[in-house]
Amino acid sequence: MSGDAKPLAGQAAIVTGSTSGIGLGIAGALAAAGADLMLNGFGDAAVVSAIRVDLAKRYGVRVLHSSADMTRPAEIAALVREAEAAFGRIDILVNNAGVQHIAPIAEFPDDQWDRIVAVNLSASFHATKAALAGMLARGTGRIVNIASVHGQVASPFKGAYVAAKHGVIGLTKTVALEVATTGITCNAICPGFVRTPLVEGQLAELARAHGMSQDEVVREVVLASQPNKRFVDVAEIGELVVFLCSSSAASINGAALPIDGGWLAR
Ligand code: NAD
Repeated sequence: MSGDAKPLAGQAAIVTGSTSGIGLGIAGALAAAGADLMLNGFGDAAVVSAIRVDLAKRYGVRVLHSSADMTRPAEIAALVREAEAAFGRIDILVNNAGVQHIAPIAEFPDDQWDRIVAVNLSASFHATKAALAGMLARGTGRIVNIASVHGQVASPFKGAYVAAKHGVIGLTKTVALEVATTGITCNAICPGFVRTPLVEGQLAELARAHGMSQDEVVREVVLASQPNKRFVDVAEIGELVVFLCSSSAASINGAALPIDGGWLAR
């Protein structure tokens, strides 16, 4: 990084699914680095407003929020247009919104398959498509897709999630090749387990499925694959995104970067 206290000052970013968990952490890291922000995601209106006001005050940046539903292409395109109109440009797009459902394939509900593919994969396509025109016109931009270790390896009962995350890495590589000579980069980040509301939801389901307590599930199931035996910290992912958005990362393109305590080294 440049050593500049605010390496992204004057830039504008969209972070999808940033009212909670990893997306909120990424939004905080980008704001701390000086970027104006378009937040997105669901949540209680008062809580979302408090997040927006807190980030703006704490870091002296402009922070807006759109409740665009990532299952709806027209709303995704409108979110990008709204951010471009407000900030005059979009330098950074972080496709982070994600959902999960755990079930064996033979019992996997069709509507959950459709929802997971829409939010975790198709939304990244629609947002990238909408944001790229402006980035190409300016010859600069950063697209970061939050994939998962499950973009590179599978686990049972996560069929839709694993398929969607593998798709995200394929999309990342394709976009990277298409923009390779333009000053834009597109990369994926592949976190191991991070203790967010998305994972808390899985803990309850896994505890039921394995007949274990949630503590036992954390120790013996969840972190069984994660060699460092601790959850990844949201702040660690935020810092990696800021680095990928810096000029020092201009030659990193089309990568799927693990941040997983060694999971993918096995
Ligand atoms: P989370 O549940 O804490 O947050 C998900 C965010 O997405 C929320 O802001 C929610 O409002 C938003 N969202 C959900 N559906 C939406 C929709 N239809 N339209 C708009 N927004 C929607 O989850 P998280 O753990 O922070 O996950 C964030 C991303 O990181 C996901 O893509 C997830 O797959 C990925 N990831 C998470 C982990 C983990 O262990 N938590 C590991 C690897 C990858």
